[in-house]
Amino acid sequence: MNMSIRLENVNYIYGEGTGQEKWALKNINLTLHDNEFVGIVGHTGSGKSTLTQLLNGLEKPSSGQIFYNEQDIQGEGFSKKELRQKVGLVFQYPEHQLFEVSVIKDVEFGPRNLGLNNLEIEKRSFDALKQAGISDDLLDVAPFALSGGQKRRVAIAGVLAMQPEVLILDEPTSQLDPIAASDFLNTVRKINTELGTTVIITEHRLEDIFP
Ligand code: ADP
Ligand code: MG
Repeated sequence: MNMSIRLENVNYIYGEGTGQEKWALKNINLTLHDNEFVGIVGHTGSGKSTLTQLLNGLEKPSSGQIFYNEQDIQGEGFSKKELRQKVGLVFQYPEHQLFEVSVIKDVEFGPRNLGLNNLEIEKRSFDALKQAGISDDLLDVAPFALSGGQKRRVAIAGVLAMQPEVLILDEPTSQLDPIAASDFLNTVRKINTELGTTVIITEHRLEDIFP
């Protein structure tokens, strides 16, 4: 399997044509490969979150092209739905993506949407929760009652249950204390090495990703 994501001269401008243009990304050229563990570092407002949303097709570049396995993701006939399954994104604020009544229901949501059978949904969800480091006693807990670190892990489990090729984490450690952050990064490294998932992490400082 030779996965690649390639950005060619990508620009992103918020509010284009409104007279309030805001350049978020300027002429980005970048290639991401299989099994890589990539850090994207920059201060607030440098365009990290915008970039993550372009990578999985949530937003469309103002100009330039993005290729997934050398296919233009804006091209006719290209399935964005499939792309979002293959390129999973955990948002900067994970509470934005947790909405079910319990941890297990939240994680099962994605695979259920794929139309898998119950046995497969259960298996994927349990495996994903384990890989994300969530213990069984939290399965019936409401996501809003979890700590910041646990919420991030549940959000990751929800993405892993889709069995993505790429896992994108937008500033995952910024709200965590140093011990939780280091634990969290160990979990992500294991996902990269043991599952072979490509991992892309954005942070403020390089030391946050590669201490
Ligand atoms: P980062 O994640 O690195 O903090 P962002 O991608 O969120 O950066 O933002 C990049 C730039 O785009 C910033 O200048 C920000 O103010 C601007 N921006 C982000 N979201 C919007 C929006 N919805 N409308 C207008 N400008 C935005
Ligand atoms: Mg951001």
